[in-house]
Parts: sequence; structure tokens; C-alpha cells
Amino acid sequence: MHEMSLAEGIREVIEDQARRHDFSKVRVVRLEIGRFAGVEKRALEFCFDVVMRGGPAEGAVLEMIDLPGRAFCYDCGESVVLNDRLDPCPNCGGSN
Ligand SMILES: [Zn+2]
Repeated sequence: MHEMSLAEGIREVIEDQARRHDFSKVRVVRLEIGRFAGVEKRALEFCFDVVMRGGPAEGAVLEMIDLPGRAFCYDCGESVVLNDRLDPCPNCGGSN
């Protein structure tokens, strides 16, 4: 389950920012998740609640924002939005 390591990484970022900006409490964490990130949202919610205990974000609300899938096309050199990993490039029709 890579959601546990994601939650641990989020905690590290929050703790680092808390030290830098001298705050001790986080109420909401907004997390942007790309379509191809392979994140199980329910698992991440569970891991988030467990991992945040005892830290600045204990009890914080986790808001997950879905982002479209993005890919780099080696055929035309453009960064494009895809609905599915196997879709052709919408710019040039390439599959690389
Ligand atoms: Zn292309």
C-alpha cells in the first residue's frame, strides 16, 4: 500500500512547513491527485488519519482534488492531457 508512504510524506511536508512558518495547527489539507497517480482515495484517507496523529495536522480534514492525467508525448514533444493511459496523443495521434 503506497498510500501509507504518501501519508508519511505529507506529514513530513507539514512538519517542515510548521517549523519554517512557526505554526502548530493545520485544519485542512488540500491534496491534488493526478488521474494516473494510482492513489486509492479511501486507503489514503485511512492512512492520513493514522499518520497525522500527534502532529500539527491531527484531526485535519483531507480534501482530495482530482486532476486530469498528463503525459509527455515523445512524438511531438508536447505535454498533453489524457483520459486514459493508452489513449493516443490528442495533439499528433502518436502513441509514444
Ligand atoms: Zn503528440
